[in-house]
Amino acid sequence: MPMIDLRSDTVTRPTPSMRKAMNAAELGDDVFDDDPTVDRLEALVAETLGKEASMFVPSGTQSNLAALMTHCARGDEYLVGQQAHTYLFEGGGGATLAGLQPQPLDQEPDGTLDLGKLAKLIKPDDYHYARTRLLCLENTTWGKALPQEYLAEAKTFADEHGLALHLDGARIFNAAVEQGTTAAEIAAPFDSVSVCLSKGLGCPVGSVLAGPSDFVKQARRWRKMLGGGMRQSGILAAAGIHALQHHVDRLAEDHANARLLAKGLDGIDGIEVATVQTNMVFATIAEHKITGLAEHLRKNDILNTAPIAGSLRLVTHLDVDADAIRTAVETFAEYFA
Ligand SMILES: *Cc1c(COP(=O)(O)O)cnc(C)c1O
Repeated sequence: MPMIDLRSDTVTRPTPSMRKAMNAAELGDDVFDDDPTVDRLEALVAETLGKEASMFVPSGTQSNLAALMTHCARGDEYLVGQQAHTYLFEGGGGATLAGLQPQPLDQEPDGTLDLGKLAKLIKPDDYHYARTRLLCLENTTWGKALPQEYLAEAKTFADEHGLALHLDGARIFNAAVEQGTTAAEIAAPFDSVSVCLSKGLGCPVGSVLAGPSDFVKQARRWRKMLGGGMRQSGILAAAGIHALQHHVDRLAEDHANARLLAKGLDGIDGIEVATVQTNMVFATIAEHKITGLAEHLRKNDILNTAPIAGSLRLVTHLDVDADAIRTAVETFAEYFA
């Protein structure tokens, strides 16, 4: 029996048709800027996000860091969520490699950063302070799609304060599918957007950073310095093109499966489930039941990550179907019975 892997949407294997597209990809050397498949992917992402240009990179972490470095200079500051990937989960790269000072702020329950609170964190123009230069948002953030009106307000706020606006849109397509809108609509207020191909879209590797042409040109320089120039990377870009053509609308299935999982778990005594918007389920586990849970799940071929402060994150994706979700719910129920 195959594992039911609910650790993340990064665990998917390329589908047979994705592998076929990768195998058939026309290749060049992208560091010489002559890989036609990378060029096609970059044009497709730029068009899909309504931006002038884009750049293919190995990871979302590198994409976000190249964006931070392009928007900010050493000694500058970026405003960011306390639980945001670009603050919490990127190894402190903004501080260490870019010489930037993050100014984190707790997210509100809907995933937004309160603009009134942010205004108070912007530093005055005085050499005692770092220069506040950038506001960095994340969508989806912890599975929540940010309200579209909020994105427009954030843009007005950024303009009023002379800040650039970057979106860590690792899961922007999940947000678009959930809200019945397009990724371009969500991306519109932002100067730059990073998207992951390796999450719900099901690619083995890759992220893309999109923005104005001069921005992307500068970001390519940082990508080089960050060690991210790749050669016959069209083989990976082909997976990205395939995913953008075939794996966006189907994210609705992942969201339906997440709701199915949430509903099943919520019916179990000892588990409380937060409202699900996209492909992530957050389940609070009764404290005395945490210790043996992972082992019980693993014995039954279900993989999960360790709960953080009693909250277990379970993620649906291309490689778990509704039957797998029903099996997972039964396995949880056995343990809690
Ligand atoms: C996964 C992720 C990234 C970056 O991912 P890599 O693992 O470096 O490709 C950035 N932001 C968010 C919100 C993510 O979930």
